[in-house]
Amino acid sequence: MGQGETLRAVDPSEVSENIYLVGSSDITDPRDCAVYLIDLGELILVDAGAGPSASQIARNIERVGQDPSKLSTVIITHCHVDHSGGARLFQKRFGAQIVMHEQDAKAVEDGNTVMSAAQWYNLHFEPTPVNVKLWGQEQALTFGAHSIVCLHTPGHTPGSISLYLDLGGKRFLFGQDIHGPFHQDFDSDLVAWRRSMQRLLALEADVLCEGHFGVYKPKEQVAAYIEHYLETYAENSP
Ligand SMILES: [Zn+2]
Ligand SMILES: [Zn+2]
Repeated sequence: MGQGETLRAVDPSEVSENIYLVGSSDITDPRDCAVYLIDLGELILVDAGAGPSASQIARNIERVGQDPSKLSTVIITHCHVDHSGGARLFQKRFGAQIVMHEQDAKAVEDGNTVMSAAQWYNLHFEPTPVNVKLWGQEQALTFGAHSIVCLHTPGHTPGSISLYLDLGGKRFLFGQDIHGPFHQDFDSDLVAWRRSMQRLLALEADVLCEGHFGVYKPKEQVAAYIEHYLETYAENSP
């Protein structure tokens, strides 16, 4: 948000059939990342916002016509508080299982205010138990007839993951903070990040549900988005 701009009340919205945007800096709290809801019979949340808006996100799940008590899983793409801070409320209130990569899990479980960047946001970080820790390069989570594939895409943080899901003939990629920023406080790694971005390009996703800038489509726009950042952070860039 630019200086002098006033807060806008934006409604939650449908990204595609069965995928909704239920939280973001415009919809819920300026500190929130984009929070996506996926309906695969049970409900899955991709990231949870910074925390103070978690109840509002739960209400937004109702506003898009879904029942928050069906929320089985919160997948956290990385440890930063703007993505993970709200997870505890969904775990406590709805019994949702929190899933994230083992390499970022410790910061969340310890409520580490540096690694989670809570300090940057001047937010409290409630230590949050992680129910399912992902490991290795790739793991699929199954929900009925569908799978959400979690790819380990280190770079922004060591345990960053990106998710993809094939639904209705389209491939949806959830790539949160794949643009960075990169900082030593986060243990960022640009060499690992470039490899991660090549893996994402190879998916040839049709839709990118991004963490702070919104939704990109079609396929060419998704590739252009990733390639733009690869050029920005090229090995020989200043
Ligand atoms: Zn981040
Ligand atoms: Zn972020």
